[in-house]
Parts: sequence; C-alpha cells; structure tokens
Amino acid sequence: MFPALLPTYSRTDVAFVRGEGSWLFDEHGKRYLDFGAGIAVNAFGHANPKLIAALTEQAGKLWHTSNLYRVPGQEKLAQKLVAHSFADTVFFTNSGAEAMELAFKMARRYHFVNGRPDRFQIISFEGAFHGRTLAGIAAGGNEKYLEGFGPKVQGFDQVPLGDLAALNNAIGPNTAALVIEPLQGEGGVRPVPADFLRQLRTICDSHGILLIFDEIQTGVGRTGKLFAYEWLGFTPDIMAIAKAIGGGFPLGALLATADAARGMTPGTHGTTYGGNPLAMAVGNAALDMVLSQGFLEHVAKVANYFSQQLGALVSEHPAIFESVRGQGLMLGLKMKIPNGDFIKAARDAGLIVLPAGDNVVRLLPPLTISEAEIREGVSLMHQAAAALEPQKAAVP
Ligand SMILES: *Cc1c(COP(=O)(O)O)cnc(C)c1O
Repeated sequence: MFPALLPTYSRTDVAFVRGEGSWLFDEHGKRYLDFGAGIAVNAFGHANPKLIAALTEQAGKLWHTSNLYRVPGQEKLAQKLVAHSFADTVFFTNSGAEAMELAFKMARRYHFVNGRPDRFQIISFEGAFHGRTLAGIAAGGNEKYLEGFGPKVQGFDQVPLGDLAALNNAIGPNTAALVIEPLQGEGGVRPVPADFLRQLRTICDSHGILLIFDEIQTGVGRTGKLFAYEWLGFTPDIMAIAKAIGGGFPLGALLATADAARGMTPGTHGTTYGGNPLAMAVGNAALDMVLSQGFLEHVAKVANYFSQQLGALVSEHPAIFESVRGQGLMLGLKMKIPNGDFIKAARDAGLIVLPAGDNVVRLLPPLTISEAEIREGVSLMHQAAAALEPQKAAVP
C-alpha cells in the first residue's frame, strides 16, 4: 500500500517527542544532545521560555488577519531588521524557498522597471542550495532535484564556485543577478573565499546587475555575526533569511535595498500567511535575543572552542575524519568514511548530527549551547569515531 505520508524522505526511525535547551528526548525516553537544531532552525534551543511566552501570549489574542490590513508585528520586525542590516525594506514569508522565489522575482522586476525586461538571467554556483520550488531547483542546479520535473525554469545558469573566468563568460546582456550562499550549507559547509565574494560585488557593480545573498542558513547569528555578509566589508542588494529567525516557527524574510526593490509596487507580490501575527510574535522575540547584550559574543566564543575541539578530534581519528571546515557554529567534518555511518554511530551514542553534500557531517548546534555541552558532544563524537575505527592489532 502507498504510504499515507508521501514518501519523499527516507526518514530515520526516531520520533522526538520533547525538547529542552540543547537536548531532545525520543518516544522511549532516550536523551540526545542536539547538534542539528532542526537544520539550523532551533537557534535558541528547544522549548525556549522567551519564545514560548511570545507565541502563547499572541495565540490568546489574534492568530491571523491577512495582509490586506496592517500587521503591527511586521512593521516592528521590519524596522528592526532594517536598522540592523544593509536593507531598506523587508517582506515576510513562511519559508526560505518562498523568500528565494521573491528574490528572483524582485531581481527580474528591477530590470523590467528600468526598461530592460531582457535582463532575466540569474547565475548561481555549483553546490548551491536555494530551496525546492521550481525556481529554487533551477538555481540550485542539483540534477537529483531537477530530474523528472519538466524543463528547468528558463533563465537560470550555473558556474563552478570560485571560477571567475567561467563567471565572466556566463555574464551577458541578459544577466539580471548573481545568487550565492556566503558559506554553502547543504552543499557541504563549503566556504567561499572572501576574495571571490568581493569580486562578485565588483562584477555586479560594473555590469549593473544585482547581488543576491542566500543567508537562510548563515543568517541570524549562525556565523557569529548577525549576518554572514558582515564579515566581508560589503553588502548584497537582496538577501533571504529564514530558519533561525523563527526559532522553529515557520518564518522567512526577504531583505532588499530601496533601489533593488523599486519594481515591487502594490499588487506585484503577495502571500496569505506570510508575516502573520503568530510568526511575528516569535520573530520579534527571536531577533531581540540575537541582538541582546553578549549573545553574538557567546556564539563566537563557543564556536572558537568548538572548532579547537574538532581539530583535536580529527587528528586523533585520522582514519575517520579528513578535516574541519566552516565558520561560527556552522561547522562541517569532511569524512573519510561514509558520513551516514558516522551519523548513525553518533546517534547510537546519543548525539544528533546532520549530513551534507561532499561527504560532510554538518554540525549546527543551538546558538545558546554551552561550552560544557560542546565538550560533552565532542566526547560523544570521540566515542562514535572509536566505534567505527578498524580494531587496532592486539599487542602480543
Ligand atoms: C534551508 C535552505 C533553503 C530552503 O529553505 P526552506 O525553508 O526549506 O524552503 C534555501 N537556501 C538555503 C541556503 C537553505 O539552507
């Protein structure tokens, strides 16, 4: 019989029923340290008291009104995001993919209102992930995600990450925008050299095309800054965020400069649920926490400790791990054995870690994690690695 639940995931046979801070509990009462955070979503841990209070208070007042009316929570959160970023304007969505969809529409519309409707081509980079809508899979360029879904949406082209010559070749009179994750997530926690990112800004400026950053995974504190672009010394024109901004409540946002957004006049885009009062209550509380005194300093400090510990882990188990990469609390272990084997061994030991492309194990703990919890998690990783190591020959 066909499963009642559409089988698009090959799910691990574990059902979590409760969470508390950095910890998850399954239906049998087994406890796990969570270094996955619902794929970089539970940035404030599970059952965060501030988020619970914000959501339940709003739930008792008003859930939804639609975007036909003013939503005070949207105005408040948009003003805060504008005050703390390059952006002049914000649109709220329910997910990352929807924010990316708007990013592509906005870039095309910008050129349309500038009298250049022929400028519709969006260039992305190999290894990218931009969500699972038709435009998202066209931009992501992953053949596995495109197969069987008809002709790829027109106007999306991809070049190898870091290849300036290929990029310059791909840019033509039709180019509207470049889109990039400043640190690739799903693709394998693959860092993009800062110099390459800077070149993208220069190229965009010289051709009059827009630079879109997908900070759905890197944004909202994950790298130790509010947004990853802050490490670079320049700003994008358009940026998508999601994941951590909702702390587990479905929420995304598209941020843009006034110039990039100039084509988005009344009637050009919409959403029924995006930015509804429940999402805004949580989003405002989440952003306030990231912006609170000491929060990002904590992320940077704990991340520094974590990557040192991982360095030691890698050198102690050379048959299992190749290297550590990433930034802030978005770290990856390039594996010498299949990443799935380690993920299972870690889970058996009571630690949740995530897969990523390029045979990488991805580590995305809650941003609120303590140094003691990092120490405990790394010790569980030593245990998992030891369980997978070829048995050392017994000394006669
Ligand atoms: C998760 C993610 C998306 C897609 O977000 P959804 O909320 O799953 O639609 C897009 N881009 C990046 C970089 C992501 O990490």
